[in-house]
Amino acid sequence: MDTANQRFGPKSSIHPSIGKPCPACNRKFKVGDYTTLVVLGPGNSKENQKKARNGQAYNAIAVEVHWPCATGLAEGR
Ligand SMILES: [Zn+2]
Repeated sequence: MDTANQRFGPKSSIHPSIGKPCPACNRKFKVGDYTTLVVLGPGNSKENQKKARNGQAYNAIAVEVHWPCATGLAEGR
């Protein structure tokens, strides 16, 4: 597990990702879910790719997945 993962949740009914599929398990996010963000990288931005190459901070593309899908841990842990 990446201990840098930050756990978010539980989700409220007005959260924008409610009903969208988790990219790791394809189940829809629902009220009460705990999630985290998994960083993918700089994406197709030339500026962000350049910063990544040079070891500089950049705005990374990240995807939201269920907390257990990213960490293997139970929802509330
Ligand atoms: Zn999931």
